[in-house]
Amino acid sequence: MNYQIDNKGYYGIFGGAFIPEMMHQNISELQNCYMEILESDSFKQEFKQLLTDYAGRPSPLYYSDRLSKQYKTHIYLKREDLNHTGSHKINNTIGQILLAKRLGKTRIIAETGAGQHGVATATVCARAGLKCIVYMGAIDVARQAPNVEKMKMLGAEVRPVESGSKTLKDATNEAIRDWINNPVDTHYIIGSVVGPHPYPDMVARFQSVISEEIRVQLKTKTGRETPDYVIACVGGGSNAAGAFYHFLNDPDVKLIAVEAAGKGVFSGESAATTQLGRPGILHGSRSLLMQTADGQVIEPYSISAGLDYPGIGPMHANLFATKRAVFLSATDEEALKAALYLSQKEGIIPALESAHALAALEMINFKTDDIVVVNISGRGDKDMETYLNYYQLIK
Ligand SMILES: *Cc1c(COP(=O)(O)O)cnc(C)c1O
Repeated sequence: MNYQIDNKGYYGIFGGAFIPEMMHQNISELQNCYMEILESDSFKQEFKQLLTDYAGRPSPLYYSDRLSKQYKTHIYLKREDLNHTGSHKINNTIGQILLAKRLGKTRIIAETGAGQHGVATATVCARAGLKCIVYMGAIDVARQAPNVEKMKMLGAEVRPVESGSKTLKDATNEAIRDWINNPVDTHYIIGSVVGPHPYPDMVARFQSVISEEIRVQLKTKTGRETPDYVIACVGGGSNAAGAFYHFLNDPDVKLIAVEAAGKGVFSGESAATTQLGRPGILHGSRSLLMQTADGQVIEPYSISAGLDYPGIGPMHANLFATKRAVFLSATDEEALKAALYLSQKEGIIPALESAHALAALEMINFKTDDIVVVNISGRGDKDMETYLNYYQLIK
């Protein structure tokens, strides 16, 4: 089985490029030259150098003694929270800014949910000296204030989006609109493995450094390159794509994707796309999508802004359809509990998104000699207000 794109940009029946005529020029430019750029020696060298010296890679693979005892197995945490700017998002933005420079672009746009992708984009734009505009849902602007301040300090312009649910989906719509109006000088840095071909494949390649490192680190620590489980949360799916990438063709490695169940999968306030969605087209690709009987997008909900998205990337829709990955979901409350547990047992405050992956440890029966890797996609600084509000309530 092949879990990568075919030559038309499809993962099985998912993917492709469903775009308005006005975006055609931009997208075909990217489709025609992204692989040549990514495979060139100068790109590879510059990308690797920046991942090392600027982002701080490789991120550690940390054996969690306390979690291992609690769940009676062997648990390793992949510490993407320790990257510069606090999450895995920097891997992708470094790759895309190098691409944009090679394409001669001078203006960068991005969408952001939790603000992590906005900060990672503003960061690489500052370094590259390129103008940066970040679209962000008005609700997210309010609930992720520290990241908004950071983007501004880094020199980016943050444009709050007041349409729809005022979250990530709506910010993405606005960014697409901007690109249509500015086709020549602008590159759109999409923050996840979503959007028209070639974005899902390109972003997965940039994030694949996560699983490339896990293989090397596990080999050193355990003598084995492959774990029994890799667990990652899924919003659009980029940290999961990166953590799964180099294990896709190792059928013994169980891939666990964890979606946000919000207040409960069937509560009407959820973002568990594989459980609630059907095939449909959103933001330029065919994937699974939460929609009404007549195809209107259903507003998603999660306490975690980074998971509050009504779709998943086409790679994940295919991993779900082919059963290569198992999809679980964790509620707001389960994630909040898991975040508190990791904080107090290991001294690591995870991002709310990553806490969903940790919550899945409760849902799986591990063997005592299993090797389990949980991808800690980011750190919890941006979520302190949410955490404090919740922990006040349960005290
Ligand atoms: C953005 C974000 C996510 C969700 O995005 P994916 O593309 O699914 O990885 C998860 N964790 C953190 C910390 C994030 O910032």
